[in-house]
Amino acid sequence: MNEEMRKEQSKLTTETSTDKKSSADKPLSEKTTEDFAHYFQTTYQPPNINKARKRYREDIEVHYDFSIPEDMKSIGADKKFLIRTFGCQMNEHDSETMAGILMQMGYEATTEEKEADIIIMNTCAIRENAENRVFGEIGHLKALKVENPNLIIAVAGCMSQQETVVNRILEKHQQVDLIFGTHNIHRLPQLIQEAMFSKAQVVEVWSQEGDIYENLPKARHGKIKAWVNIMYGCDKFCTYCIVPMTRGKERSRRPEDIIQEVRHLAAQGYQEITLLGQNVNSYGKDFEDIDYLFGDLLKDMNKIDIPRVRFMTPHPRDFDDRAIEALAQGGNLLDHIHLPVQSGSSEILRRMNRKYTREEYLDLVRKIKAAIPNVTLTTDIIVGFPNETDEQFEETMSLVEEVGYESAYTFIYSPREGTPAAAMEDNVPMEVKKERLYRLNELVNKQSAESMQEFEGKVIKVLVEGESKRDPNVLAGYTEKSKVVNFKGPKSIIGQIVDVKITKAKTWSLDGEIVTKITEVNEDAKIFT
Ligand code: SAM
Ligand code: SF4
Repeated sequence: MNEEMRKEQSKLTTETSTDKKSSADKPLSEKTTEDFAHYFQTTYQPPNINKARKRYREDIEVHYDFSIPEDMKSIGADKKFLIRTFGCQMNEHDSETMAGILMQMGYEATTEEKEADIIIMNTCAIRENAENRVFGEIGHLKALKVENPNLIIAVAGCMSQQETVVNRILEKHQQVDLIFGTHNIHRLPQLIQEAMFSKAQVVEVWSQEGDIYENLPKARHGKIKAWVNIMYGCDKFCTYCIVPMTRGKERSRRPEDIIQEVRHLAAQGYQEITLLGQNVNSYGKDFEDIDYLFGDLLKDMNKIDIPRVRFMTPHPRDFDDRAIEALAQGGNLLDHIHLPVQSGSSEILRRMNRKYTREEYLDLVRKIKAAIPNVTLTTDIIVGFPNETDEQFEETMSLVEEVGYESAYTFIYSPREGTPAAAMEDNVPMEVKKERLYRLNELVNKQSAESMQEFEGKVIKVLVEGESKRDPNVLAGYTEKSKVVNFKGPKSIIGQIVDVKITKAKTWSLDGEIVTKITEVNEDAKIFT
């Protein structure tokens, strides 16, 4: 949806033709967002999952002209904000954008709920338990709202893009003042202003994906590692997944904008960037004017003076030779690839609409290993997809061994309303699904522990991120293959890449001793040798 369409569609004022009497009689599960319309005298643009499923052919506009309207620049003076983020890196990065906008409006960050004048819950819809946690938190915020009626409570992110969630909030959680979605974060100033001065709940969720907004401010978390969005949305429509409905169609940022952002991060001293996309390696497939794909972007990233470049999350089907060839060049492109497989059974993969078979996935793995001999592979796996048989689950177990993943995010399938899989019959009892998850985790843990053993006695490069959470006298950092290393050293090396000799391998982390010599020159300057 572009700005013009938005202007036409928004500001749906209330007292529509909704039949209040019949609407009030309906149970919550049967109510539509139209039934709620009569509560509003303000912006009321609810989500629509059918619209979100469609893919439109309109051109995506790239906007470079974001600015905070003059009268909203000091709306947050002497006020504080708190953003609670659930879910993936994409959400983490969206929260950095929201924080950047709020800071330009004069707000200051706080971690104390009681101090906050605005609390934003940036939510995740990927599994039911993520949603339950958010509803728990929303319920808990009710007491704060009673104590401080001026507090603004906002719900943003993927959950807001779902009609049933919005209806549930409108019906049961009157303490929520504002609901906005993933496509209109740039409208935060106007929406906050409206929530402040309106007596009704403000709802603005665009179901049709938005344009690309380039110059949104970002309050990045830390000065060492940074997320960089390279594309938005997903067109894969895996049958279990809600993301194509909550994040809209695939759309890539222009290469020059990404390169400029990464150069700027390098100039600021960032040591590592992660290129982000729901489907990061389908980057560029939507360009009609240039032949520039993910592999080309990787090659350009390799020319930038930033020590480490990662990416999340590639889809096996889009992993083309151009990307493999670029990664094989090494340089700042790390040899750790997270390659979600989801299942080891071709039949389950077919029903998941993953668009590859077990054999095709294994061929890809062989190709990657041949081009990047030292590569580390990790993955995502779903167990207990509807009607998954014992044999099909065993195929997943054998694939995990064959590939030799060093770690994996493993999940029990969670039905998501509005997805094709949610309508599938499922004959697998929860007990069986839990047992499968347990066995899979045992295998993954074993492989992880084995991969850690290989580092004992070796000297490896560690990006020092800060103090260990368990012991402030110990520093913690990450290797190129994303292994956590704990070791003793001066705090002055936080943010640097140093050599560490590994003394002990554990299942999930490594202990080590710093090898890089640090010559103390004076209070302010340290020399590394
Ligand atoms: N786009 C990435 C891909 O295709 O691999 C993954 C993005 S998704 C946000 C992260 C992971 O959540 C998926 O790889 C999948 O394993 C898991 N997931 C998604 N929907 C799920 C569902 N309904 N139940 C359980 N796990 C799910
Ligand atoms: Fe979801 Fe599949 Fe898209 Fe990944 S590729 S975000 S699992 S629909």
